[in-house]
Amino acid sequence: MRPSATTTERELYECFDCGQRRQSTTDRTCEECGGTLRNIHRSRDL
Ligand SMILES: [Zn+2]
Repeated sequence: MRPSATTTERELYECFDCGQRRQSTTDRTCEECGGTLRNIHRSRDL
């Protein structure tokens, strides 16, 4: 469930349903389940 602690400066999208992650996608629709992808922005300012 929890994504790996990988750092990226690119935009990352995660599926609400299956948790599929994609980078730099032009379509906010999951190709796996057809769910909605959300833009997750991880900040290292914690
Ligand atoms: Zn999905």
